[in-house]
Order: sequence, then C-alpha cells, then structure tokens
Amino acid sequence: MSATPDIVIIGSGMGGATLAAGLARSGARIAILERGDRLPDVPETRDARAIFVDGYFRPKEMWLDRQGKPFNPGNYYYVGGNSKFYGAVLIRYRERDFDGIEHAGGQAPAWPFRYGELEPWYARAEELFRVRGEAGEDPLEPPRSTPYPHPPVPDEPAIAALRERLRGIGLKPFSLPLAVDLDRWLEGGATPWDAYPNTGRGKLDAESAALAVALKFENVSLVTNAMVERLIPAPDGRRIAAIEYVKGGELRRVTPAIVVLAAGAVNSAAILLRSAGGPCPNGIANRSDAVGRYFMQHNSTALVAIDPRWRNDSVYQKTLALHDYYFDDGEGGPPLGNVQLVGKVSGPVFKAALPYVPGFALDWLASHSVTWGAFSEDLPDPESRVRVNGRTIISDWRKTNLAAHQRLIAKMKERFRAAGFPLVLSRAWDQRTPSHQCGTVRMGADAANAPLDIWCRAHDHENLFVVDASFLPTSAAVNPALTIAAQALRVADHMIRTEFHA
Ligand SMILES: Cc1cc2nc3c(=O)[nH]c(=O)nc-3n(C[C@H](O)[C@H](O)[C@H](O)COP(=O)(O)OP(=O)(O)OC[C@H]3O[C@@H](n4cnc5c(N)ncnc54)[C@H](O)[C@@H]3O)c2cc1C
Repeated sequence: MSATPDIVIIGSGMGGATLAAGLARSGARIAILERGDRLPDVPETRDARAIFVDGYFRPKEMWLDRQGKPFNPGNYYYVGGNSKFYGAVLIRYRERDFDGIEHAGGQAPAWPFRYGELEPWYARAEELFRVRGEAGEDPLEPPRSTPYPHPPVPDEPAIAALRERLRGIGLKPFSLPLAVDLDRWLEGGATPWDAYPNTGRGKLDAESAALAVALKFENVSLVTNAMVERLIPAPDGRRIAAIEYVKGGELRRVTPAIVVLAAGAVNSAAILLRSAGGPCPNGIANRSDAVGRYFMQHNSTALVAIDPRWRNDSVYQKTLALHDYYFDDGEGGPPLGNVQLVGKVSGPVFKAALPYVPGFALDWLASHSVTWGAFSEDLPDPESRVRVNGRTIISDWRKTNLAAHQRLIAKMKERFRAAGFPLVLSRAWDQRTPSHQCGTVRMGADAANAPLDIWCRAHDHENLFVVDASFLPTSAAVNPALTIAAQALRVADHMIRTEFHA
C-alpha cells in the first residue's frame, strides 16, 4: 500500500469490496485492510463433510453468549468475507420494507429514505454481481427500472416438479435471484453453492465480482492478514486520526484522510467499542450509545419436507422461493416471512445436525426430501447487542417477533403436507449461524439514536463511514447482501461527489 492512502477500507466483504469497486474510478489512493487471506483452493472446498461436520473453514474464534457460554460462530474471515460462503441470493428488500411495518412482535421502523432512493443502485449492484432472475414472477417484487441482467438459473427436473406441486395448492413459487454462473460452478464439482466456499468464479461474490473490478485500478490495493485493532480519534474527537492494525506480528499505524469501516456487523461494532478512550469514552461514533445495539440476525429455521414416494435427485436445488406469507399470514393476520430453498442437503450435511442417525438412513432422507429455509423479520431492540470484553466478543442477541416465526413454521408445515410431503421436520438455526447479522451501527436521521447519517457517515466524525451490514435499520425478511451492496455503491457515488468533487 502507498505510505498514506487517501482512503482505507477495513474489510473486503460485501460492503467493503463493493464500495471499493464504486470508488475506484475516483483516482483516490485506496487501501483495503483485510484480516483474512485468500481462500485456499483445496479439495475441502467441495467436501460436504469437511465444511459442515469438521468446520474446516470456520474461524478459530470463540464468542460468548449472554450467559458467558463460549461458542464458535460461522463468521468467515477470508478475502470476500461471508459472501465467499453465501447462497448467492441477491434479492431486493420489498418496497414496503422501507416504509415501516407492523409485526406481531412490534413495529419495524421506517427507513430514513424510501425504496425509490435506493432503486438505481439496486440496479447497478445487480449488474456488478451479474444477477440472474425473472422479473414479474415474485408476487411482491418492488418496482424495477431495469430487467434482471441475466435469465434465471433453471430448476432441475425434481425442482420443476416441486414448483408444479406448490402451484397446485395455490402457492406462487418464484425463481430466486441468484449471482451464480451455473456452468462454471459445476465445472468445479457437482455440488450446491449455498454455504460452500467459492474459489473459482462460478459464484459472484464480493471478491470475484466487486473486488476483482476494484483491483483492476492501479490506485486500489489489498493488504491481507491485516487485523485492525482500533481507530484512534483526533484530540478534539471530530475526526479519526489513525487506524491501528497488526500485520506479521507487528503493530502498525496508517493515517488516511477517510476511514471506511466494513468489517461486518459484529466486528465493526466491536472495533468501534474497543476504540473507547480519550475524547470518545463510550467508543467511536457512539455519542448515541447505539453502537452494538439493535443487533438483528433473522429468526430462521430449516424445514425438511419428506415424501418417501418422491426422489430428489437435484444437485444444487436452490432455485425457488415463496412470498405468499411475507406481508400477511394469508388470513389477514400480520407478516410471517420469506421461505426459500437452501442448497441440496446431502447425507453428511444431515450428519452435522443428527450425529447419532446412521449414514445410510441420512442418505435416504437426503434423496426423499427437500430442505427450505424460513426467515422472519427480527426487529431492532436496543437490548439486543454486541459487546466487548477486551478482545472477546459477546453476542447478546435478543430474538424478537418469535410468534410470527412460529406461525410461519406451522403454516409452512401445513402447506407442505397439503402439497404431498407427509412429514415435515424443523430445526431453528441459532446464534452459531450469524449469517444475516445487521443493525449494530445503524443509519438514521437523528444523531441521538443512530450513529450514521443516510450516507453511512458517522454523525460524530466527519471522516468516518461504516458501509457493511451494520448500517441496516431493519432486517426485513429477505437476504441482506444486495441491499448492502446497493447502499455501498450509493455511498461511493456520494463520496466521489462530496469528497473528490468529481
Ligand atoms: C453460509 C452463508 C450463506 C449466506 N447466504 C446469503 C445469501 O444467499 N444472500 C445474502 O444476501 N446473504 C447471504 N449471507 C449473508 C451475507 O454473506 C452477508 O450479509 C454479507 O457478506 C455481509 O457483508 P458485510 O460487508 O457486512 O460483511 P462481510 O461480507 O462478512 O465482510 C466483512 C469483512 O471484514 C473482515 N474483517 C473483520 N474484522 C476485521 C478486522 N478487525 N480487520 C480487518 N478486516 C476485518 C472480514 O474478514 C470480512 O472479509 C450468507 C452468509 C453465510 C455465512
């Protein structure tokens, strides 16, 4: 990296890499500090047992829960961040998700701007990540200014048959918008991509889609194995004077004009809180005392729909979703959530959840079932928070809106049974799976209760931006990554206009 970059971005995941792609053309000298390395291209990247049973790629890190009990989080530290493992569903929040929604468990607040403000950058993000989809199929699709860049990933025969079964009971299955080049993915092995790490370019993730674009510019550089420890405020507290990070066992400092934090919702909050001291006794950007609070990560449950007479011989499976109960329960009651296929579950993956069941029985289960993920909105609660104790992260997640989630599970069990799956099993994902973490450094018009303004700039520090899932004021009930990417591109354009006057 050049001795003093103009901009340092901390983290090369969905927010950080997309921001870098958006800023690259500014000519500013940009350095990205990433604590992880490039994902190694090893056979384990396509080995279900290594990934799901042995936890080969999981970090050697423990977080504490509210009771102080340690757990190993599925939070990935590689170039590209969690998107290296993502299901590549790049879906927009619904238009009404921006307006504030009454849920069974309380109110989701309105965003400080409406859907129409973000729409042009949703379109740009879909272009950057080469999203495949079918406009007009999703019954709750928000207005679009552009068609999807590419046609949808085709259903495999078993899934096409499933689609018809669901239509037969009056549901409206639609093609998931996906950032995957199917042929290239399958060249690497006949496996699903959901939760499998991406080393080639088959999956369009933060590294393969956004960072690849950014690094084509000479003014952008990536520094791997660079672990940011804290931000140091100027004596008057109005600016961030320096970033302290460890590389090669050595503590280093860098003093850019602009600091962008994009370490993910848990780690960004942890870095800000760990930086408490001097003019910022409560932590950086934390006059509001909101940093680390409003931590959300979706209420989510796996639903295994079993039909002994049916054979699911699909490889990737993940092409369908349902929004029939997103804004109401189908009977005039409150919103329930999104339901989408997960990647095809094989015997070894079931083994991780059912270790005492013999392998042959799990193989049978895998070939006569289809697994869905059900997601309900988690509401922002100030008591739901990330805290730190020195270097240790404490994840004090208070689940909200649980009645809606239970109703979604009950509803879907009934619907899947009606569609000819006599047995439907369910298992909730818990805090060891913080895939959809968000909200911990939220955006809002009022500096008294939100650390960031609508451009993700810290209300307290004029040269600090936070551009990852932390900024999300609500979790909605759809996957977050496209909204993170769209906002990163919007912020990049704003920075170019206001900081570089281009
Ligand atoms: C298995 C799985 C499946 C998922 N599927 C989907 C999906 O289909 N669709 C979807 O929308 N979302 C999905 N997600 C969620 C999605 O990946 C995240 O929402 C998204 O990556 C968050 O972006 P981010 O920028 O906030 O954080 P990340 O992408 O996690 O990036 C944070 C980066 O910061 C780095 N970092 C952290 N701490 C430091 C530090 N101290 N110093 C330097 N660098 C640091 C990390 O190594 C990482 O590279 C999935 C996630 C997982 C784990």
